[in-house]
Amino acid sequence: MLDRRGVLRAGAYASTAGLVAALTGNDNAGASHIPSAPAPQPAVNPNWQQLENALGSGSKLHLPKSRDFPALARPWNLRYEDRKPMGIVSCASTKDVRTALLWAKENGMPLAPRAGGHNYAGYSTTTGLIINVRPMNQVTALPDGRLRIAGGATNGDVAKAGAGKTNLYVPGGRCVGVGIAGLTLGGGLGFNDRKWGLTCDNLVETEVVLANGKIVRANREEEPELFWACRGGAGGNFGINTSFLFDAVDVSRTTATFFRFTFGPGSGEEVMKIVQETLADDRENDLDIRIEFENPGTGPHDVNVAVLGQYLGDESALRTRLGSLLRLNPAEQSIERLGFWAAQEKLSMVSEHETVASRSLVPHSWLPPTTVKEIVDWTLKWKPYRKGNSGYVTLFAMGGKAGAPSADATAFPHRNGKFVIDVGTAWTEGTTPDEVHRLLAQTGDIHGGLSKALKTNAAYVNFPDPDLTDWQTAYYGSNYDRLRKAKTHYDPHQVFRYAQGIEPLRHSEAGS
Ligand SMILES: Cc1cc2nc3c(=O)[nH]c(=O)nc-3n(C[C@H](O)[C@H](O)[C@H](O)COP(=O)(O)OP(=O)(O)OC[C@H]3O[C@@H](n4cnc5c(N)ncnc54)[C@H](O)[C@@H]3O)c2cc1C
Repeated sequence: MLDRRGVLRAGAYASTAGLVAALTGNDNAGASHIPSAPAPQPAVNPNWQQLENALGSGSKLHLPKSRDFPALARPWNLRYEDRKPMGIVSCASTKDVRTALLWAKENGMPLAPRAGGHNYAGYSTTTGLIINVRPMNQVTALPDGRLRIAGGATNGDVAKAGAGKTNLYVPGGRCVGVGIAGLTLGGGLGFNDRKWGLTCDNLVETEVVLANGKIVRANREEEPELFWACRGGAGGNFGINTSFLFDAVDVSRTTATFFRFTFGPGSGEEVMKIVQETLADDRENDLDIRIEFENPGTGPHDVNVAVLGQYLGDESALRTRLGSLLRLNPAEQSIERLGFWAAQEKLSMVSEHETVASRSLVPHSWLPPTTVKEIVDWTLKWKPYRKGNSGYVTLFAMGGKAGAPSADATAFPHRNGKFVIDVGTAWTEGTTPDEVHRLLAQTGDIHGGLSKALKTNAAYVNFPDPDLTDWQTAYYGSNYDRLRKAKTHYDPHQVFRYAQGIEPLRHSEAGS
């Protein structure tokens, strides 16, 4: 298993989320990097006893005085840690999800569903009630070769079930703690999407507790618009998904060759040229690659370009395919032919809580050498301001089966994307607000430069960026209007609401 980067932790920094919330009436308003007081909690007098009494076995209410409350309240991204819930209900059944939802509505409480808690922008935090579905983590292999995955399962739970016995695989993400719910609802990239599609492309059906408390099944025949929206329309918009049914691949005979190389920054342009040519030639979609330009904050001598990936085939074929890359003499190189599950384990990572700000772009064309040079120069010039801070540009290869559907086949629109580019910074405890401003400005510079050079503002909704102003188009392209219609149908009063949540049509628009 690989490390993301140092385990980072922040505490000195608080966001203005609460202030913005108070002004907008949206308790899950966009984060900011300007410190302020912690988010205020809603002025309600909830009947907690009533909720507790209504819960079935296995479900539990956690209030701030409970011992497990702080750990459960904490989002993965500590940038949003100050947005504290009044209560958390951990649900072990769909029935209890419904009970919690209806109780929150009756008690005037804002709510946020949470599965893995890994949303970059903290959109599964709220000052009201977190409906935590994590106890629902069962993964069941069905006789027809499909997998039923409960709404709170993570990538790690699915891998454990597959590697342990079923050998059935659904293309997922890399981080073991990421929830299948958030991953699927926003799309789902991984090291197998070029071969077998995005996570959402493999979804066959999902069970959803709607804003009005109704429990529905969404698939191609039943609630088809909800099913369409649940494949790329992002979590926290249409209801609480309590179960997912996926087509799965039997990988009992699949072998995979893992690889990881690092190069000095001087090779960056050549590395990208070779990687792009190799991907363009990969007609069978057996190859998946991530390239990371990272400045770990310890000086320009430590800047490196890492190429990480998997080839669904044997080592000698991989060595032939990546021959040009190997001839560049990587500073470090690791190639291992493994069983399928061992390769997934090797590619996976456990990521503890961090404090990060991330922005993304999805270019529809390959990166020209001048743009790669811009990335290399930025990485070399990047300043940490404090020990332990880091800056990075990561490119996740797209294409293949992930690019096959039309842009409106599901709510995920970026089917022509060559890469998803994640530009970000992580910072440590003790970094001052002024330093955070400067870190964010550096991220803004490269994001702006790449957006201009690649002529796109398209962004990946699962790497949400609270500072993105035209997020509706950036995340959803021309699918946004259809998503608004679905929102109007399923959640007209915005029971599910956050700063970049899908907006229902206004009365005047609904009539037209
Ligand atoms: C370390 C790390 C690694 C990552 N790696 C990848 C990767 O390899 N590929 C990739 O595509 N993405 C990756 N991501 C992004 C990830 O896919 C998104 O952050 C995703 O939304 C996280 O899902 P979650 O369930 O863990 O998050 P949560 O924060 O629990 O939820 C995300 C959103 O969905 C809502 N939600 C949660 N549960 C439900 C539910 N049951 N029903 C309806 N709405 C719900 C929440 O309210 C929130 O709006 C990574 C993120 C991190 C932090």
